[in-house]
Amino acid sequence: MPASAEPLAKQLFGAKKTPSNQQPAPYGGYAKGCQAGAVELPETGPTWQAMRLSRNRNWGQPSTIAFIRDLSAFAARQPGWKGLYIGDISQPRGGPMTSGHRSHQIGMDVDIWMLPPQRLDLSRKQRENISSISLRRAKGAYTNNSWTRQHHEILKAAASDPRVARIFVFPGAKVRMCNDEKGNRAWLRKIRPWWGHHYHFHVRLKCPRGARGCVDQAAPPAGDGCKDAQQWVNNILNPPPPDPNAPKPKKRREYVLSDLPKQCAAVLQSR
Ligand SMILES: [Zn+2]
Repeated sequence: MPASAEPLAKQLFGAKKTPSNQQPAPYGGYAKGCQAGAVELPETGPTWQAMRLSRNRNWGQPSTIAFIRDLSAFAARQPGWKGLYIGDISQPRGGPMTSGHRSHQIGMDVDIWMLPPQRLDLSRKQRENISSISLRRAKGAYTNNSWTRQHHEILKAAASDPRVARIFVFPGAKVRMCNDEKGNRAWLRKIRPWWGHHYHFHVRLKCPRGARGCVDQAAPPAGDGCKDAQQWVNNILNPPPPDPNAPKPKKRREYVLSDLPKQCAAVLQSR
């Protein structure tokens, strides 16, 4: 069958409403894979609520769910925070999505809202309708007045967790944390400036120990990355002239099932 006649992987995975009846396993990479045996993040827990339940993306590997329990318990000890509001993890069987993300495919990525939870008894409907808050100013070059020390502490706790590979957040937030941190700076290495990510931050977990089909991303460069983040901010404030020799951005072809790790076929077929 020519590739053009195959259904797109995002349609196959997007149609699955339940996890596969298999042992938990992430297969492939964060932006090209799927997940077996996913676990649902309970819609409400002692220190979290899953948001936008209609998206059905509160599914992850067991280690991811454990991480969310732990980080949200830490957040709940911060003044003004009842815990965490959790955005997208992955679809029940992971895989590409019809909207929203390129990664989040293997149950090892989590979006966490910047909005400090004042309550953990939001109804389903309220969870569809309330919005997070943006923490950025000047197109992401700086944090705004909604940034708090608690954001710093929660991001620091996440980045200090050995299960975490990296965290994506807007450049102004990284520079702010670089400037404010007076103690150990090693954790800043995992805080990676990225586009967007001012309504939420994105935690990417390392492949679980022994997960042989899971493909880790290369570690961030050595050092705290603060100079690079400052350079990104400088480029936001004073954009350099466009490079006439820059390669044209490639248009990415959408994945079909045969592009994904071979285990993903069984993940789809499982009842
Ligand atoms: Zn994300």
